Amino acid sequence: MRARIRRDMALLTAASITLVAVALCLIFYRQFAMTLQAEIKARAEMFREMNAAQLMAAWSAQPVFVPNDMRMTLIAPDGTALYDNTVIAKTLDNHADRAEIRRARAVGFGASSRYSDTLRRQTSYFAVRLPDGCILRAAKTSDSIFALFGRALPPVAAVITLLAIIGHIAADRLTSRIVEPLNAMRLDGEIIPPYDELTPLARAITEQRERIAGQLTALAERTATINVIMDNMDEGALLVSRQGTIVAANPSIGTIFALSQPVIGNNILTLLREPHLAELTRRALAGHRHEATLKRQEREYRIYFSPVLGGGAALLFLDTTESGRAERLRREFSANVSHELKTPLTSISGYAEILAEGLARPGDQAKFLAKIKDESARLLALIDDILLLSRLDEDRGGGDFTETDIAAIAAKTAAVLAEKAEAAGVSLRCAGQEPMPIPGKPSLLAELFFNLLENAIKYNRPGGEVEVTFRRDDHDRRVTVVVRDTGIGIPQAAWERVFERFYRVDTSRAKKTGGTGLGLAIAKHIVLIHHGEISLTSRVGEGTSVTLMFPGWTTKLLTPAPVTAPAIGR
Ligand code: ADP
Repeated sequence: MRARIRRDMALLTAASITLVAVALCLIFYRQFAMTLQAEIKARAEMFREMNAAQLMAAWSAQPVFVPNDMRMTLIAPDGTALYDNTVIAKTLDNHADRAEIRRARAVGFGASSRYSDTLRRQTSYFAVRLPDGCILRAAKTSDSIFALFGRALPPVAAVITLLAIIGHIAADRLTSRIVEPLNAMRLDGEIIPPYDELTPLARAITEQRERIAGQLTALAERTATINVIMDNMDEGALLVSRQGTIVAANPSIGTIFALSQPVIGNNILTLLREPHLAELTRRALAGHRHEATLKRQEREYRIYFSPVLGGGAALLFLDTTESGRAERLRREFSANVSHELKTPLTSISGYAEILAEGLARPGDQAKFLAKIKDESARLLALIDDILLLSRLDEDRGGGDFTETDIAAIAAKTAAVLAEKAEAAGVSLRCAGQEPMPIPGKPSLLAELFFNLLENAIKYNRPGGEVEVTFRRDDHDRRVTVVVRDTGIGIPQAAWERVFERFYRVDTSRAKKTGGTGLGLAIAKHIVLIHHGEISLTSRVGEGTSVTLMFPGWTTKLLTPAPVTAPAIGR
């Protein structure tokens, strides 16, 4: 920049000085030529009234009158030179064709100016016609315009050189004055333009900077959002470059592959060593979608291979262990149901066969019929429970919750079971006087208490107790219910398992009491639907306490909670 300014400045100086010099030369030359013309004209006209003879006589008598600062030529009307004060007239050729002579002969005077190649000088002529027809011509030479230029050149060159030096220094100073504040300008923070002309630039930079900052913030926010999603999703996510290098991996990938080091930068083959998976990755990179199953550390994953716009591939790892287990549980449940249904049916058909064949002794007939009745009742109870469970699995009992007083429901259920308790010699007490409202479904909650209380009576001993107590938390209104009995108790190893479908601690006793093994599974399902929790503590031979916790009525949980099969066991 500095060099350009210097060069331009030098060129400008040289050009302007040359132009000025040329213009001045031209003006001066013109002025000079005009003066010259006027001078020779005046001199020629001085002798205009005289004849050639008179003139020559006068000049030879008094040579002092012959002008010596200019050439005077006397020419006869035919063009022959009669006299010349600078050369011998006889040596001159005929002048008749000279422009100024021709014109003087015609109109009385004539002027002309010619450039003499030989002399390299400019000559101006002025001719007048004398009364006798002869022509007197005055002539004076001057430097040609080129000569004038030639002579002006050295001083002009000197001036140009001088001015070029001054221009150089001035250009230096000027560029420094322009450039230095620019260099010193701070582009962070508020931009203060060093001079007014830079205000638009400063404004443009500020606007640009704000726009870039805005875009960067938006970008950072988007990146942060994506990172939050990636970091918090349970699914493993991998991004693979066109060359098969891992360019992004979320923390779940580390968990799935039990990685101790980051995998970014590694080839995908270091993670997926199975040839068919490597092949699917290759196909995804070639633009095709695929799915596959992967087993890692006793868990099962479904991998989705998808090509990514602009090259590369995305791999999504979905943990299907739970859903796989749920599927397995459903299959097991079906098998269990068939087994459970088959047992009473086998007894029924056995007794019925004996009776039908007439093989029973008359005294045994009533006993067999009673057995058939019992087994049928068990079968019906089983079918009822299975139907209820499948209904719970399907629609969580249907509809939304209403404000339900579980203390009242527990009391009502206890009343229904009072007779049974009395028959078993068990005292049944429900301590809830105060209403205990929760969001719930009365029919399901009645079923829940029926199962818990029935168990507490069934697995009790004569003279034993069953007590239901309620507690409401004043702070969050959650309701805790404890169903306590003084029965046979459950060994600790089975505390969790009793909630599984068809699980019984003591199979023979449970069968004897008509248990289906589904009561507690149903109870747990109902509690979970109500966003609650159920737990159990017990001591063998001393009794069992089942604790239920429900969120209070004020909470906004007014729809049943989704319950997955694994949550309630098989
Ligand atoms: P069941 O229909 O056989 O009673 P449940 O699911 O209600 O089935 O109970 C599962 C098992 O848990 C029962 O078979 C029994 O062995 C045990 N159990 C349940 N409640 C009690 C209790 N209050 N005291 C002792 N054992 C219990």
